Amino acid sequence: MTVLEIRDLHVTVETEAGTTPILNGVTLTIRTGETHAIMGPNGSGKSTLAYTIAGHPKYTVVSGSITLDGEDVLEMSVDERARAGLFLAMQYPVEIPGVTVTNFLRTAKTAIEGEAPSIRTWTKDVKASMKALRMDPKFAQRNVNEGFSGGEKKRHEILQLELLKPQIAVLDETDSGLDVDALKIVSEGVNRAKEATGLGVLLITHYTRILRYIRPDHVHVMVAGRIVEEGGPELADRLEDEGYDRFLPAGEAEP
Ligand code: ADP
Ligand code: MG
Ligand code: MG
Repeated sequence: MTVLEIRDLHVTVETEAGTTPILNGVTLTIRTGETHAIMGPNGSGKSTLAYTIAGHPKYTVVSGSITLDGEDVLEMSVDERARAGLFLAMQYPVEIPGVTVTNFLRTAKTAIEGEAPSIRTWTKDVKASMKALRMDPKFAQRNVNEGFSGGEKKRHEILQLELLKPQIAVLDETDSGLDVDALKIVSEGVNRAKEATGLGVLLITHYTRILRYIRPDHVHVMVAGRIVEEGGPELADRLEDEGYDRFLPAGEAEP
């Protein structure tokens, strides 16, 4: 089993207004085999948590810790985090001009495993995963994220997830911009990875829609950089009915 532990995490970002606190003491434990949803209104700090786990230089950890099986994640380079079994799918993935999907995946797999996968099994695995995600085989020859539609970006993320076989995956707004058919295909991919490898999932989402397809064991509500409520799947159902209004100060209700 692998355990990702986030303890009393405080994170700031530099803005024109100076140093701004975004996360104000987040504590969370995710084990392989578990699915946790972090839900919350826009601007509550969900993506900041994902970027901090990913090691984005823009975010400063002021105090608290992130460990993976007791190892200090904050001391690891981005590559080391991936090798340690963390997978981060960002809300706004970057383009990698001149690098095709197929080369990107093989390079990432080689970096994570420490040796190149055998061509024959690798090609077979890539084909099978692309087929399962209903991706056109031509997609493998396109440059990473260049001109990808929202849905293609998400499928490409799940393709990585299936092929790189991490221990713990952080998926930030994987549902955004997907129509229902694409959402189902992407969710099935996550569920396959959960079944195949016992993947632990931290699913970050504003909307409850994806939670109909990927059922969380635990739901955490983040507001203003803190987890303000925790529960089981029934909490997601309640948020679907009630929204976030009861967590927000009067007058700040979301439309
Ligand atoms: P969420 O993902 O829950 O919508 P974010 O983590 O994106 O929230 O943002 C939380 C708050 O931190 C927002 O007020 C946002 O404007 C601010 N913030 C996040 N990242 C940056 C950044 N790189 N520069 C300036 N402000 C940021
Ligand atoms: Mg382990
Ligand atoms: Mg976000």
